[in-house]
Formats: sequence, structure tokens, C-alpha cells
Amino acid sequence: MHDKKNYDVPAGVHTADVEAVLISAEQLSQRIQEMADKVSEKYKDVPGELLLVGVLKGAVFFMTDFARALSIPSTMEFMAVSSYGNATTSSGVVRILKDLDIDISDRHVLIVEDIIDSGLTLSWLLENLSSRNPASLEVISLLRKPEVQAAKIDLFDVGFDIPNAFVVGYGLDYAERYRSLPYVGTLKPEVYQNH
Ligand code: 5GP
Repeated sequence: MHDKKNYDVPAGVHTADVEAVLISAEQLSQRIQEMADKVSEKYKDVPGELLLVGVLKGAVFFMTDFARALSIPSTMEFMAVSSYGNATTSSGVVRILKDLDIDISDRHVLIVEDIIDSGLTLSWLLENLSSRNPASLEVISLLRKPEVQAAKIDLFDVGFDIPNAFVVGYGLDYAERYRSLPYVGTLKPEVYQNH
């Protein structure tokens, strides 16, 4: 479990709204390089390019840094899904808003996820993509919350296990804000009250 540490909140946009920094920009880039090294090693001998599949919009920041840290060639595709539920929990019922632009049959596919909470969205995605007959299908996630253990999802790698708190930054939003924060952190309670 990643300790909840209070790193200094760096000056910048939204700084006044941030309660605590859980994972600093330096920690993110160091861990992402380790994850990319592990993935590069696993796929270095497979034919064709590794296909990275990201889910919009949260995974975009992780995806671009991760792809640049790989030492093997890769291509990128994005999907957009909407999960029915309220703002902070998901129901597992998923609708595709934007599908992949290509056929993934016989491709080596790696789903690049930002965060796994209940794991319901990912379970659905795994089932959906595996029905398209890829040569292989694996998942990496930058963040994972404790609840996912119950969903029994096999992950190739996880960046950080974090406490059960709502986090923002590095792609993750609250009401579409805070995605561009260079670190992962929590918001002050008054931010939710004022919304
Ligand atoms: P799951 O289906 O695993 O419960 O939900 C996964 C999705 O919920 C993530 O892709 C993300 O969009 C959203 N989510 C879950 N936890 C958080 C969080 O702490 N912060 C933010 N911003 N989004 C979250």
C-alpha cells in the first residue's frame, strides 16, 4: 500500500485546491520508466508492434509518458466509454462512446489504465476486447485502489496501490478539472462543497 504522504504541494495552477500530494511528479516518472522496462522486456520478441489501448480521457497523460519510456515500437488507439452510475462510483454497465479505429485481431494488445477502483469498467473492457480475438491481451494500471482485489482482475503491472480516496491529477479529473496537475493528489473538502 502506498503511504499517504504529505509532499509539499508545488506552486502552480489549482494549488490552492489541493489538500495533499500522494504521488509526486518525480515518483510518477521513475515508476513509469520501471513499468515500461518490464513491458519492453516482455514484448521485445513478439512480431509486429505492441498496440497500446487507452481509455479517454484519464489515461492520456500516463499513456503518452509510458509510450515514450518504452524501448520497443508501439502504436496507440483510444476508446471512450461511459459507465452508468453517479459521479464517483461506477455500475459496471458500460456504453461505447468511441470505439477503436482498427481491427485488433492477431495483435498484441496492452490496455493502459489510469486507475482501477471497483474494476467493473475494466472487467467489461477485457471481455469486450478479448471477443475481438487479439493475439494477446494484458492490462497495466498506473493506480489501484484496495477494492479491486475483490474483482480478481489479473494485471500485468500496477504503478501504485493507493488508499481509498478520490484522487485527481496526471489525467484524473473532478468535474473535468485538475487533469493537468503534474502529480496525483487529493482535494480539500471545501472544493466538493462549493461545487
Ligand atoms: P471502476 O469501474 O474501476 O470502479 O472505475 C474506474 C474509473 O472510475 C476510472 O477509469 C476513473 O475514470 C474513475 N475513478 C475511479 N476512482 C477515481 C478517483 O479516485 N479519481 C478520479 N478522478 N476518477 C476515478
